[in-house]
Amino acid sequence: MDCVFCNIANGEIPSKKVYEDEKILAFHDLDPKAPVHILIIPKQHIASAWEITGENSGIISYIFEKAPQLAKELGLAGGFRLVNNCGNDGGQTVQHLHFHLLGGRSMEWPPG
Ligand code: AMP
Ligand code: ZN
Repeated sequence: MDCVFCNIANGEIPSKKVYEDEKILAFHDLDPKAPVHILIIPKQHIASAWEITGENSGIISYIFEKAPQLAKELGLAGGFRLVNNCGNDGGQTVQHLHFHLLGGRSMEWPPG
């Protein structure tokens, strides 16, 4: 399996974990774009948001349930941004569905 995030999920590639359960993993981004920059991934391989269906969409609500809890634990009382990049135009570079949880500074809108 040459998927970086599958290999992080199965422990073959080390990561700085902040949360893990049977469905998802959250870990620090290698190249943080904010004082707090966490990636939240499903352990199950889903390539991108293009692959979300009625069968697997439960993982999305699960991630959105956990993200504010994580944000609170990480001290982001002032708010946070939760981002999914999809496909080339969306800026996706790792082909395993992930959400960026960003915080610790105010964010610009629109993003670059
Ligand atoms: P995206 O551009 O939305 O696909 O985001 C991929 C993110 O994964 C980037 O922010 C990278 O810095 C991050 N990244 C890539 N490889 C690793 C890794 N081994 N550990 C932690 N973060 C990574
Ligand atoms: Zn994967």
